[in-house]
Amino acid sequence: MQKIYLDNAATTPLRKEVIEEMVHVLTHDFGNPSSTHSFGRSAKTIIETSRKTIAKQLNCSAQEIIFTSSATESTNWILHQFVSNLGVKRILSSKIEHHATLHTLEHLAKEFGIQVEYVTIEKNGAINLNHLENLLEDSVKTAVCLMHVNNEIGTVLDLKKVSDLCQKNNAYFFCDTVQSIGKTEIDLKEIPVDFIIASAHKFHGPKGVGFVYIKKNILINPMLYGGEQEKGMRAGTEATHQIAGLAKALELSYLKLNEEREYISNLKQYCLSKLQESLPATTVNGENTFYNILNITLPISEEKTAMILFNLDMKGIAVSRGSACQSGSIKPSHVLAAFLPEEDLKKPSLRISFSHYNTKEEIDLFVSEITKI
Ligand code: PLP
Repeated sequence: MQKIYLDNAATTPLRKEVIEEMVHVLTHDFGNPSSTHSFGRSAKTIIETSRKTIAKQLNCSAQEIIFTSSATESTNWILHQFVSNLGVKRILSSKIEHHATLHTLEHLAKEFGIQVEYVTIEKNGAINLNHLENLLEDSVKTAVCLMHVNNEIGTVLDLKKVSDLCQKNNAYFFCDTVQSIGKTEIDLKEIPVDFIIASAHKFHGPKGVGFVYIKKNILINPMLYGGEQEKGMRAGTEATHQIAGLAKALELSYLKLNEEREYISNLKQYCLSKLQESLPATTVNGENTFYNILNITLPISEEKTAMILFNLDMKGIAVSRGSACQSGSIKPSHVLAAFLPEEDLKKPSLRISFSHYNTKEEIDLFVSEITKI
């Protein structure tokens, strides 16, 4: 059976060159990067070269990049630092953030009494920037925590505008750029954001490695105490092959960005028109969405809702749902619940997310299977 992977916002297949790079490092550069002999020095060189490669893509300095194990880890670290070290008394976020952010904020509110306020979401899934601007006028020390590209619906935050608002109001800005890094240009000299994060598996790199960018002169405490790795900010022997894979994946993503972005944008457009041709009442959730994410509500009866993913999976097609199905009951996605009317939440929604590995033939097969349901 032909398998079709249309869940690239969840994770992506590794590029061949990334696997080769990682295998090379695993085979030849097993030294501990902290060792002073030649084995250690060559592993250390790989890490520092990777850091420079990443910094070059984002137009920042290599010292501003700290490697972590994931975006979740980076988010937990920085949000905790706001409270414990940077004097933040209030965090402004939104109900459409990833759970890595939302659950950390809930914990901070409960554990440390930090004030958390949520910027309202427009009917089209966008963050209400006027509301953000009004909230920022309060003089309390604030951090803004908003994502760049939403992982479920693909709405895009105006990074420049939010960064400028934060700067003007003396607020920190932490941006979850997990879905946008490697998929759109990010120039950190142009956009004065304080913290951004990445997870390599979202841009055809390995799982279990990511990084956080921390703007120069922001002093925070280590995440982990121990050795001197990562300037003492995250102790523990570095995963050299993971870091090399991350850097290779990011470098290739930016090298091929224009070509792949155009290809994927066309594929998304093709998929939507095919869907609307076969099922004309299909609607799109979110407006002006990112080029690799398509979130739709299907004109299918409620009873069939729970079966959709299962039926597609049986045909070897992987997509994901805007709603999670738990023991037969439908729990609406927290993202869709933040801006869709109640009656629309009962209808089946799907997130289809593309990569340059997908083809029009795959889309045709996917649409024909959906139509059969
Ligand atoms: N933020 C966003 C927007 C994501 O899509 C994800 C992954 O699904 C994460 C954070 C967490 O990434 P990780 O699971 O790699 O820590």
